[in-house]
Amino acid sequence: MADLQAILFNKEAGLKALFENSTVATLIVNSHRKIQVINPAAETLFGFKKAELSGKLIDILIPEDSREVHIQQHANYYTNPVAHEMAHGEQVFARKKNGSLFPVLINLCSYHSGGEMYVIACITDLTDSKETEEKLRQNEERYRQIFNGIEEVFMMQKIIRDDDGKIVDLLFLEVNPAFVKLLNKPASEIIGHLRTEFFGPMDDELKDIINRVESGENIPYAQHFPTIGRWFHRHFDSPKPELLVSINMDITESKQEEEALLFLSQANHKLWRIDSPDEGLEEILSSSIALLRADKGTLQLYDEEKNVLVIKKHKRFDNKFLELFHEVGIDDNTSCGRALKLKSQVVIEDTEKDSLFEPYREIARKYGIRAVQSTPMYASNGLLLGVISTHFSTPQTFDTKQLRRMQLYARKAESFIERFRVYEAMRKLNAQLEEKIKLRTKELIAALEHEKELNEIKSRFVSTASHEFRTPLSVILSSIQFVESYNKPGQEEKRIKHIERIKTSVKNLTELLNDFLSLEQLEQGKLEKAPEAFSLRNFCHDMKDEMTLTLKSGQRIILSYEGEDQVKQDKKILRNVIANLLSNAIKYSSEMQEIFFHVVNKNGLVKLEVQDEGIGIPQAEQKNIFSKFYRAANAANFQGTGLGLNIVKKYVELLNGEIGFTSLFNEGSVFTVVFPQKL
Ligand code: ADP
Repeated sequence: MADLQAILFNKEAGLKALFENSTVATLIVNSHRKIQVINPAAETLFGFKKAELSGKLIDILIPEDSREVHIQQHANYYTNPVAHEMAHGEQVFARKKNGSLFPVLINLCSYHSGGEMYVIACITDLTDSKETEEKLRQNEERYRQIFNGIEEVFMMQKIIRDDDGKIVDLLFLEVNPAFVKLLNKPASEIIGHLRTEFFGPMDDELKDIINRVESGENIPYAQHFPTIGRWFHRHFDSPKPELLVSINMDITESKQEEEALLFLSQANHKLWRIDSPDEGLEEILSSSIALLRADKGTLQLYDEEKNVLVIKKHKRFDNKFLELFHEVGIDDNTSCGRALKLKSQVVIEDTEKDSLFEPYREIARKYGIRAVQSTPMYASNGLLLGVISTHFSTPQTFDTKQLRRMQLYARKAESFIERFRVYEAMRKLNAQLEEKIKLRTKELIAALEHEKELNEIKSRFVSTASHEFRTPLSVILSSIQFVESYNKPGQEEKRIKHIERIKTSVKNLTELLNDFLSLEQLEQGKLEKAPEAFSLRNFCHDMKDEMTLTLKSGQRIILSYEGEDQVKQDKKILRNVIANLLSNAIKYSSEMQEIFFHVVNKNGLVKLEVQDEGIGIPQAEQKNIFSKFYRAANAANFQGTGLGLNIVKKYVELLNGEIGFTSLFNEGSVFTVVFPQKL
């Protein structure tokens, strides 16, 4: 070994020998990054001959992807030429002639000669060296930290192909903690396992993408993983054949947001196409449950009068629950009760922890409710319309976006409900109008009927009158002629007989006219009642006496009076009633027959009974006997208009009384009238 002192004595020769014999590969580079000199150790290390490198750019020895960095470092060194180790902690690689890369340690120093600065680089091959190991370990450590710390899911997989070379599966070689957390399984249960075990069979699209990635394409790809319910934005790389590396960003939330917005717009469209309120409320509740991924729900409408919420629709509750919460007021601390009171969206994230929910906890447990959300709906005038509540079987942590979406949907529901309120109001108005029209029509028809009836009465009157008037008038006429002719003395008796006949005929005519007059008054409602206190007993005796004058020969009226004396009634009406009944009894009885007139006046009621032994009323005709102008067939030979009983019935009604009868054909009839003592 040469003495350093001696070498330094002969500087030139010594340095040259040092340079030529050094085992450290050394080269000198000028300011243009061109290689000036290299030593044999460098020749050996890089595999180049001296001549191949002299005057060449240093780039030839630098890996392609580090060249740009080197240009920068080189420039920096020239401005601040301090001897140092190149790399700054980074693993530095150099390139051999055969293109292979190897780790190196480079020490730099410089010198000036002929006005130019040269850089001497001493290169130590670190392959197999302890330092390399350490550097690699540090590098590995650093990458692992990155790899472990990133939020993105990282995985390295081996591509598994079948005999035909088609991709069938991926084998996990490496995964980062983000992925472990996602699958909720230890790495040991993932690494060495196939993709299909966790995510099911691979779809063709993914296989196609992997093939293209292998051939160098860069394909960003959004993929849904239904088994874990998440979306990922995936970036693949294939650093060497059969190896697939992917970095995956979880985009589930933004996807969910996208989906929710789509859902909202679809739900809104659906609602606008519905034209029945019932169906609409059903749809609002179903969509709200789907929107919040809830398990159950209720839709309540607000009852303004009672200030309560009433359940109109429900999903998956039973009658017992509906009974319990049929009406909810502001004092209820349920979720909807609070929404009603606070007039805002209410959330109970955990019913077991919410202290105000205490009274309902047992019921909530029974119905598997662990969380509740209630969103109020308002009309455009600010009044509450109702509340949509959704129920969850597990505790929930609602995010503001979710709650906001529910509110947005509630706005759509509001306009739907309002739309139907308007329709309903219009429908009601229409119904009221229709009702009014019906009423008016009815009144018109009644008026017409009345008019028709009056016309009928008038025409009946004309025909009845022409018939009924003719007989008494012809009697009067003939009797007058007789009276005229019996003008001699001694014919007085005959004259008086005819005058009597004239009197009776005039009386009949008067009665007839009275009947028509009464009917007219009654029908027009013109008859005024005039109650007065009088002795009914005396009155009945007077009536009996009066009617006795009209009896046929041998007939008798037998009056029996029972009870109190006084009444307070309309005398005129009562007279008409009694006269009519007694005159019928007289008319429809034969000579010698008796008429019984029973009167009972007690307990606030008066009962009159007129009983005869006359012709009776045939059974089949009894139902018509009170109808106007109705006359039974067996009455044809008796004078009459068929108006009397109709008038009597109306009079009795005016006295607040009732009339009825029993009758047997050919045996006789009993007419009974009952009315209060006092009108
Ligand atoms: P009118 O006696 O003028 O025919 P009313 O209205 O008084 O009319 O009576 C209606 C009909 O009822 C009579 O035509 C007769 O058929 C029957 N009727 C009424 N009272 C009696 C009676 N006391 N006995 C038998 N039939 C009677």
